[in-house]
Amino acid sequence: MKLIRVGEPGRERPGVLLGDGTRVDVSSCVPDFDEAFFGGDGLATLARWLPGNASSAPRLGARDRLGPPLRRPSKIVCIGLNFRDHAAETGAAIPAEPVIFFKSTTALVGPNDPLVTPRNSTKVDWEVELAVVIGKTARYVPEAQAYDHVAGYALHNDYSERSFQLERGGQWVKGKSADTFAPLGPYLATRDEVPDPQRLGMWLKVNGEYRQRSSTGNMIFAVPVLVSYLSQFMTLLPGDVISTGTPAGVGLGMKPEPVYLKPGDVVELGIEGLGESRQEIVPPI
Ligand code: ZN
Repeated sequence: MKLIRVGEPGRERPGVLLGDGTRVDVSSCVPDFDEAFFGGDGLATLARWLPGNASSAPRLGARDRLGPPLRRPSKIVCIGLNFRDHAAETGAAIPAEPVIFFKSTTALVGPNDPLVTPRNSTKVDWEVELAVVIGKTARYVPEAQAYDHVAGYALHNDYSERSFQLERGGQWVKGKSADTFAPLGPYLATRDEVPDPQRLGMWLKVNGEYRQRSSTGNMIFAVPVLVSYLSQFMTLLPGDVISTGTPAGVGLGMKPEPVYLKPGDVVELGIEGLGESRQEIVPPI
């Protein structure tokens, strides 16, 4: 299934995107795609309900705004420097263990919402990433069982403000957490739709020009390694998001000098099987 949420911010309704593009309103079956949904039997209930009800259920507006495909989770955990070429372009060493940082959950927005430049920012940058959504509480999970704890996958742009991240002291979270810095979606593809999450092409364009082109196959630490690893340090709750890192081609790594986003720029990105998203950069509010 492809899970979507449609409507104005904070008032999204849960839906399922069918193969022909139809958006089926599933709010009569499940209230929302949240921790209770993923942690209970929400996915199974919905999968049972859909075949008999999809044709008669109300439709969600085909042109209405897409929200993030899940309700605000308990945490967004990001993995840093998980592609060799990206580590190299930033001048960082290849990590011996996964680099972990947090992104504020208030950064979460719909896939095509504008990117609002934070006040006093000068170095807004892009990062196409595969996001993993947890489906079952994960605590000290062995790698061999890690996929049992995954509900599905989504496209994520891990926006970053490099001067906040790298020049203002402290942890990276400062440059990762502004409102609108986590556009997620267009949809959450359930695990059965993505047989091998390490074989997905990924790309990102700025103003129509390719900046990132890679594959999730180039990750240093693969999805089951990351789920298992994180679960040694914290409990992952249903609905939690793990963003698995970005390949080379970010603004920070551009030669002869870095190039950052400015109001009016348009960023488009996609991952094979997970759809595409588009953000226009707008000035601070
Ligand atoms: Zn990132």
